[in-house]
Amino acid sequence: MTPKYVYAFGGGYAEGDASQKPLLGGKGAGLAEMARLGIPVPPGFTITTEACIHYQRHDGAYPDGLREEVAAALARVEELQGRRFGDPEAPLLVSVRSGAAVSMPGMMDTVLNLGMTQEIVAARIAAGEDERFMRDAYRRLLTMYGDVVLGVPHREFEAVLEAAREREGVETDPELSAAALARVAEEYERLIETQTGAPFPQDPQEQLWGGTNAVFDSWDNQRARDYRRLHHLSDDMGTAVNVQTMVFGNRGPQCATGVAFTRSPATGDADIYGEYLVNAQGEDVVAGTRTPRSIHPDEHGRGGMVEEFADAFSELRAVADTLEGHFRDMQDLEFTIEGGKLYMLQTRTGKRTGPAAVRIAVDMVAEGLIDEREALARVEPRHLEQMLAPEFDLEERAKAEAAGNVLTKGLPAGPGAASGRIALNAERAAIMAAESGGGPVLLVREETSPEDIVGMHASVGILTSRGGMTSHAAVVARGLGKPCIVGAGELAVDEGTGEVRAGGQVFREGDFLSIDGTTGEVIAGSLATREPQVLRHLLDGADPSPAAEAFTRVLEWADGQRRLRVRANADTPADARAARALGAQGIGLCRTEHMFFGEERIALVRSMILASDAAQREHALELLLPMQQADFEGIFQAMEGFPVTVRLLDPPLHEFLPHGGKALEEVARDMGIDPEQVAEKVAILSEVNPMLGHRGCRLGLTAPEIYRMQSEAIVRAACVRQKAGDRVLPEIMIPLVGTEAELARLRTLTAEVAERVQREEGVELDLLIGTMIEVPRAALVADRIARHADFFSFGTNDLTQMTYGYSRDDVGRFLPQYVEQGILPFDPFARLDPEGVGELVKMASEKGRAANGELHVGICGEHGGDPHSVEFFDQVGLDYVSCSPFRVPVARLAAARSTLGVGQGGED
Ligand code: PEP
Ligand code: MG
Repeated sequence: MTPKYVYAFGGGYAEGDASQKPLLGGKGAGLAEMARLGIPVPPGFTITTEACIHYQRHDGAYPDGLREEVAAALARVEELQGRRFGDPEAPLLVSVRSGAAVSMPGMMDTVLNLGMTQEIVAARIAAGEDERFMRDAYRRLLTMYGDVVLGVPHREFEAVLEAAREREGVETDPELSAAALARVAEEYERLIETQTGAPFPQDPQEQLWGGTNAVFDSWDNQRARDYRRLHHLSDDMGTAVNVQTMVFGNRGPQCATGVAFTRSPATGDADIYGEYLVNAQGEDVVAGTRTPRSIHPDEHGRGGMVEEFADAFSELRAVADTLEGHFRDMQDLEFTIEGGKLYMLQTRTGKRTGPAAVRIAVDMVAEGLIDEREALARVEPRHLEQMLAPEFDLEERAKAEAAGNVLTKGLPAGPGAASGRIALNAERAAIMAAESGGGPVLLVREETSPEDIVGMHASVGILTSRGGMTSHAAVVARGLGKPCIVGAGELAVDEGTGEVRAGGQVFREGDFLSIDGTTGEVIAGSLATREPQVLRHLLDGADPSPAAEAFTRVLEWADGQRRLRVRANADTPADARAARALGAQGIGLCRTEHMFFGEERIALVRSMILASDAAQREHALELLLPMQQADFEGIFQAMEGFPVTVRLLDPPLHEFLPHGGKALEEVARDMGIDPEQVAEKVAILSEVNPMLGHRGCRLGLTAPEIYRMQSEAIVRAACVRQKAGDRVLPEIMIPLVGTEAELARLRTLTAEVAERVQREEGVELDLLIGTMIEVPRAALVADRIARHADFFSFGTNDLTQMTYGYSRDDVGRFLPQYVEQGILPFDPFARLDPEGVGELVKMASEKGRAANGELHVGICGEHGGDPHSVEFFDQVGLDYVSCSPFRVPVARLAAARSTLGVGQGGED
């Protein structure tokens, strides 16, 4: 059987239906379904995507039978309308529109009024039809056909029109007379002939096929191909062509055109929302020359469609209800009113903001339209991310763009918007932030390091010109829930001269810059932002907005579905409380080094590192112990009843040391030694590749007193809290293990301390000792390592770094290009690479569990908060993921969506 290439619709009948989106495209499937539902749709037909694919593959040749099928479908439309294509007495006019299965900017969109010719214009005017309307309809066909089918630039047509307005002394096109429009049409015809070497086709059939070919061809134009590549869409889908009877919204005051959503796409409010223009065609709305009005009355109860088109409005409401009930989702509608009668031109699932997505899903469950599982499939992780991020006012962003103030783009490392006075180092940031009345501070650096932590805390956002998605700045900013852009390579940050250069502008300390950490845009000046209501509600107890209530409800449903547990990475009691409020089921990573940067501690840490003998070092550690213990007590208390994984010291020691200048002198003074001696020690400790150097368990083995002190602080804190009546589940984690012997020895060391302290305290703890798997070798010998571990936690930041051999802190130099050029499909520091790093995770977890049936397995790298990675971890059977507190809600949802098998969505 030869395939069918043409599907008719209209007159309460359709050959296709909504399930045939791949074949009929989104628009065609929607039109067919509306026609089946008896909704007033101007009759027409859809040429399938398969015809387009055939045309593409056969150098522009049509498949056999296509012409005959089109002729038959057109005849059916003629019959229904009582008009004929090309007939001067009763002409049928049609539109041609593209419609792929996925809506795709960059493809040809629409040509209206096909079938109009000079002869028809003359005949209809002679028969007494509105001359101005006829002439306008013809010149509109010439513009659209000339532009999208024949490739004559749109601006050339605009220039003709502008000259006409000037000549006639009018401001707008609707004021142009019939005679003026007749002249415009003649000039358009001349323009087309000169530019293309052929006159505008007066044969309606030629117009129809010209329009159809243009749609087919536009599937393969550069813009459309680029769009598909960026959105990982196949080139083999093809587009459908919709040919449909014209209805006119511009045929007088009883006509209008508009768009509507069955609910608000911005807030999710359950009321029809839309705009319309009286006496206008769709393209007038797009052109923006006239501002459409809301379909609802104004605040004084005046105007709106109810007043101007009462019948059409109640019908539109009824259609909206029917369609929403039928598709069980919010619909985006296009309609036209001709002579007071409503026609529907399109229905499709409406795009919506995060808050709207969440509210619509929750409301629809309450209305019985969908169930909870469907709601979870509808709310995408990015919708929650959007709700959790502070945001720029959209109007301000548009103004900045118009003024040329969008300077450059970097990697969007921490979502949300922030504006602040720039500070080029952390110390200045802290000082400026403390100034009263100075306003917020934005930290702008080449890159950040642990000693910048105080300045990062003091800033509203962080912008670096170097670094990747897991660079220090990115990790810390996400942990703090602060907007952050890293690797903005076109930004020149010169701390020496105190200048930042970008987009041809120069900024100095105190000047305002704005960053949108959701898009990566760096913008000059200050833009107003808003703090997300959800966080004010969850963390500070503010009354919930309807959106915040819906947010909580969706996450409850997610918790009911998911298998994977979600913990948080938290370093302080305040972080731990935030983690709990956001639904974390424990702490999967407490990085103890961040505790070392407090003001009184850093001096002690430095004297511990620089100690010239064991006694001096022991003394410093003794002073640090109670401080660490107090931190842990606070964290255990905040996480009562939930496990807390504390990692022993990980970064190379020299990160804690001063690098010259005042800081170095201060340390020397504190320690009572010569600055030169300090400088010498710092030099000795510095390494060529610190990330691959003396850090993690290597430190623990060469300076065991540090790990002993930390183990003691953890265990003592746990004992204290348990004696106070809390349920405590401490887990001590040893980082950067690569061999069995490393873990075996450090486990013994830690266990000895733990036993001693428990004996001393008279307490028996439920204590686990485990390791991170973040060195590829550890993954390869995971079975051996598992013999000494109660748990594995994958450190996917380091595991990615070491598997690819890419320095985490230097990827900003090449990774953006790699992704842009398609060498890598995405940034593997942001989304887990399932083939390589993921294979190590899977293998290590299987080997570990085979060797140790009791082994708990989780992951605490940055990937723990990335939806696609969460899905991977769920699918390979890990017990939990751990991520920044602010990403916990997203991980909860992503885990539920993985259980439901609905993917993580949201490529656009
Ligand atoms: C990791 O490597 O994934 C990890 C969690 O540790 P860090 O980022 O502190 O190196
Ligand atoms: Mg690590």
